Amino acid sequence: MLQINRFYRSIFGVFAILSYLLSTQVTMAQGRKIAIVRDAEIESLLKDYAAPIFRAAGLQSKGIEIVLVNDNNFNAFVSGRRVFINTGAIMQSATPNEIIGVIAHEAGHLAGNHQERLRAQLDASKTLAIVGMLLGAGALVAGSTSNSSGASSTGGAIIAAAPSLATRSLLNYKRGEEINADTAALKYLNKTKQSANGMLKTFDRFAQQLALAGVRPNPYKLSHPLPRERINLLAEGARKSPYFGKKDSKSLQTRHNMARAKIAAFAGGQAGVQRLFKSAPNSVPALYGRAIALDNSGRSNQAIKILNQLIKKQPKNAYLYELRGEVQLKMRQADQAVKSFATAVKLDRSKSGLIKARLGFAYVATGNRSNAKKAVSALRAGLQTNPNNFNAYRSLSNAHALAGDIGEAELAMAEGHFRAGNTRDAKIFAGRAVQKLVPGKPSWQRAKDILTVGN
Ligand SMILES: [Zn+2]
Repeated sequence: MLQINRFYRSIFGVFAILSYLLSTQVTMAQGRKIAIVRDAEIESLLKDYAAPIFRAAGLQSKGIEIVLVNDNNFNAFVSGRRVFINTGAIMQSATPNEIIGVIAHEAGHLAGNHQERLRAQLDASKTLAIVGMLLGAGALVAGSTSNSSGASSTGGAIIAAAPSLATRSLLNYKRGEEINADTAALKYLNKTKQSANGMLKTFDRFAQQLALAGVRPNPYKLSHPLPRERINLLAEGARKSPYFGKKDSKSLQTRHNMARAKIAAFAGGQAGVQRLFKSAPNSVPALYGRAIALDNSGRSNQAIKILNQLIKKQPKNAYLYELRGEVQLKMRQADQAVKSFATAVKLDRSKSGLIKARLGFAYVATGNRSNAKKAVSALRAGLQTNPNNFNAYRSLSNAHALAGDIGEAELAMAEGHFRAGNTRDAKIFAGRAVQKLVPGKPSWQRAKDILTVGN
C-alpha cells in the first residue's frame, strides 16, 4: 500500500512556482495527488538534518531519500524508501531540532519496517479503507469529507463511524508502532548528541490541538496517534538525556530560518514573511524572504538590491547567488545570470544538479552560440545528479539547437519524455532524432532504443 505510482509519472506537467522551485505531482496509491517541490537549498538542509540520524539508525546504506512536499500543513510520513516532509512542517518549526526530531521519529518507522508489518496486519483484516489513514495519508480523510459532491466520502465515514473491532485493533497496533518509533528516535538523538526537546514540543503541540473541537484534522495527527500516555512516555525519555538542553548551532539555525523565509515568501508573500519574522524584521532571513516576495510580485529591481546587500553579509552562501541568477534571468540579464549561477555552482557544497541545470539554462538564455557547448556540459552535469529533471532536458534540447545539432535536440526531448514515463511523446521525438542523427553513433542508437521500448 501507499507505494508511489511511477514517482515522476506526470513530470511533463511540471510547473515552476518560480523557475528554481520545481514542482511536480505524484500520485499516491489512494489516488491522492501530492505536489513535490525541488529546491537545492531546502534539500541540502534536510539532507544535513537527516544524514547523522540515518547513520545512527543504520539506514545510511539503504538509499533513503527525503522528498519535499509543497503543502502548508504540518505533515511528515514514510513511504517505501522515502521520507516525505511538507514545506509547512519546516515553516512551522521554530528550530532545526524540531524537524530533526520528526525525521528521527520517521527513521524509527523505517528502521522498524513498520510499513511492511502494518501491511501484513491489514492483509489479515482486509479493512482496506482505513489503510490510507493508518499509513500516513491522513489528508485522504480530510480531503474527502470536504468533497462538495459528497460522492466519495469513505474516508470521512470511517472517522465518523464508531470504529469496528478490526479498526480498533489496527489502531492499537498503530499506537504500539508510534511508541516504538519514539523510542527509536530517542536512541538516534542521543547517539548523535542532540536534544529530543524539539520532537517533544512538536508532538505535544499536536496532542493539544487534538483536544480542540471542530478543528479540521491535521494529517499528521491522524497518521501519528497522540494519546497522552505516549507524550508522557516521550517526555520522560527525552528529559533523561544529557543532551536535553542542547541547542542547535547558530549557523544551522540561520540556514533553517532562510529555508522558512523562502517557504513563507512563496506561501504568504510579503505578509507571510513579516508574520514569521515579527521579532527580527531586519535579520538576514527576513530580508531574504522579502527579496523573494518582492521578486515574485514583479519588483525584481528591489529584490536585486536586497540580495546584493545580503551577499555582502554572506559571501559564501551559494543560494543567494542562485536566487540572484533567477532574478537576473527574469530581468533578461542572462550574462549576469550566468555569472551568478556559476558562483552558486562553485559554492554549493551539496553539488545540487538543480543549480547546474539553471547555469545551463542561463547560458542558453544568452542566445549566444559560443555559449552552447558550456550550456550542454552544465546541463549534462545537472542531469547526472538529477536525472528526472524534465525542465533540464528541455533546456538541453534548446542548447543543442543553439549549437545547430537538431538531431541531438530531438533526442534530448525524447530522453526527457522517456524519463517522465511519457512514452508516446518520447517515441515521436526519438523518431525525428533517428532521421537526423548519424547512423551507428551512440546517440542514434539511444534514439533507436527509445523507439523500440515496449514494442
Ligand atoms: Zn509515527
